[in-house]
Amino acid sequence: MADPSGFLKHSRADGRKRPATERLADWDEVYADLPAEERSNQVREQATRCMDCGIPFCHSGSAGCPLGNLIPEWNDLVRRGDWEQASDRLHATNNFPEFTGRLCPAPCEAACVLAISPLSGGAVAIKRVEQAIADTSWEQGYVRPTQAQVSSGRRVAVVGSGPAGLAAAQQLTRAGHAVTVFERDDRLGGLLRYGIPEFKMEKKVLDRRLAQLRKEGTRFVTGCEVGVDLTVEELRSSFDAVVLAVGALRGRDDTTTPGRSLDGIHLAMEHLVPANRACEGDGAPAVDAAGKHVVIIGGGDTGADCFGTASRQGAASVLQLDQYPQPPSARDDSRSPWPVWPWILRTYPAHEEAGERKFAVAVEKFVGDSAGHVRHIQLRKVRVERDASGRRAVVPTSEEVEVLPADLVLLAIGFEGVERMRLLDDLGIELTARGTIGCGSDWQTRSPGVFVCGDAHRGASLVVWAIAEGRSVANAVDRYLTGSSDLPSPVIPNQLPLAVV
Ligand code: SF4
Repeated sequence: MADPSGFLKHSRADGRKRPATERLADWDEVYADLPAEERSNQVREQATRCMDCGIPFCHSGSAGCPLGNLIPEWNDLVRRGDWEQASDRLHATNNFPEFTGRLCPAPCEAACVLAISPLSGGAVAIKRVEQAIADTSWEQGYVRPTQAQVSSGRRVAVVGSGPAGLAAAQQLTRAGHAVTVFERDDRLGGLLRYGIPEFKMEKKVLDRRLAQLRKEGTRFVTGCEVGVDLTVEELRSSFDAVVLAVGALRGRDDTTTPGRSLDGIHLAMEHLVPANRACEGDGAPAVDAAGKHVVIIGGGDTGADCFGTASRQGAASVLQLDQYPQPPSARDDSRSPWPVWPWILRTYPAHEEAGERKFAVAVEKFVGDSAGHVRHIQLRKVRVERDASGRRAVVPTSEEVEVLPADLVLLAIGFEGVERMRLLDDLGIELTARGTIGCGSDWQTRSPGVFVCGDAHRGASLVVWAIAEGRSVANAVDRYLTGSSDLPSPVIPNQLPLAVV
């Protein structure tokens, strides 16, 4: 039984960040690595704030955790200092809590009952508790390889080694299937490896989890583009089922602003991938912000990742632009009432370190030098409108044009879906109107025995959704191969329309 008045005794406290000057001088994680006892004491106090609600909105998939994480259970176990049991309950619903504890924006906290009123002192610091359980689990040896007791004799190929593919692979391996994960890159992890900056999650966190998957029996093949290096015929003849976890990496480009073709204007991933490669020891990045005036277009997570990366590379200045107005600092109930995900100003650690943000503005022209390299942007104040059919229009609200320096422009304006690839053509799979891969309620695509999960199915989304879909597809594949499945399958209440266009 939790302490129902814990939140009256203790205030919410987030983890301690390292000083900004120190963070900018290295690529290590933003949050300080506290000594185990200090971390334990602080996090137990935070877990004590949980009321063990009769209806714990935090773990509901419709507004809270898509994985159905047993949040009140492990909060109470942490409060009592039973970290091993807490680890068991956390891993019961989440293959990779050390990823979500670091990377998830925590819809559970937005849906926490203590987030209803500011008088409560704020939501339980669920994400902090989750990361502490995960890190303690590794330190104390609670995370061990789980080998299947019986082999099914069935073979499964997972294409893509991001969080969705890894979750599906781990579940299916533990169910006794022979699983091979194919990754076209030279290293495993997908976006976790080359999209997420080191300062958000150090790659050693990913590598130790991959080592666990290997010990459990999952096989990995890197540098192999399925459909090219391994043909669809070979794939079909070697495996009984295929899981597509190929992500949704087709970056949205700016096709209308004059000057887009100038040198020095890149999609966000053209900046983040080489920066992450440089951290892996692959040499100087091809797109480097050092000494440059950097302009990031797009106000979301990816833009913030570019922001922190550019600052660490030694940019002369960093400016992030958003077409939308600055959100309020607290939830506006008329617009996004509890427990839904609130429209509020999200200030990332990168924004506290350096640079500037501007809202309700848009670039009307990129201006270059005589060598064809971008040097300035022309900026106008704007308003985003939608017509009766919901079509978006960006309307200038001022005649005034601001000219700002820009030697490197990064477009972080979203993703348009799955990349075109021969694999899909040869499997006879067409993309939906949203650029994703459709499937039935059994997660099977139009191509028999071929399943899909993660961003490839959902469109670019959160790491927690990727893991949830990976676990669900594993249940479906296990059922397909054996007729039934004991693998858990998160309830995914807003599973997307699955029509194949
Ligand atoms: Fe605890 Fe908040 Fe979940 Fe209630 S909603 S059980 S207070 S974490």
